[in-house]
Amino acid sequence: MANCPSLAGCPFYNDKMTDKPALANLYKRNYCEKNYTDCARWKVASALGKQAVPSDLFPNQNDRVEKIKNQIE
Ligand code: SF4
Repeated sequence: MANCPSLAGCPFYNDKMTDKPALANLYKRNYCEKNYTDCARWKVASALGKQAVPSDLFPNQNDRVEKIKNQIE
């Protein structure tokens, strides 16, 4: 897979969400620069728009995606 199309504007990718750089770098490699369609932030943005993505949603929190969609829909 390729880089996520949202890299430039994504708070997670631009280090605004966590002070754990090792973990963040791991997620960046696995999601942002590889399998971005598996990212929870990407899934919510794709389904509901970027404005619906919670500021504290991490790429690996796929368990929250359906709950977020259910709250809004
Ligand atoms: S994969 Fe997810 S966390 Fe990474 S840049 Fe895209 S939306 Fe942001």
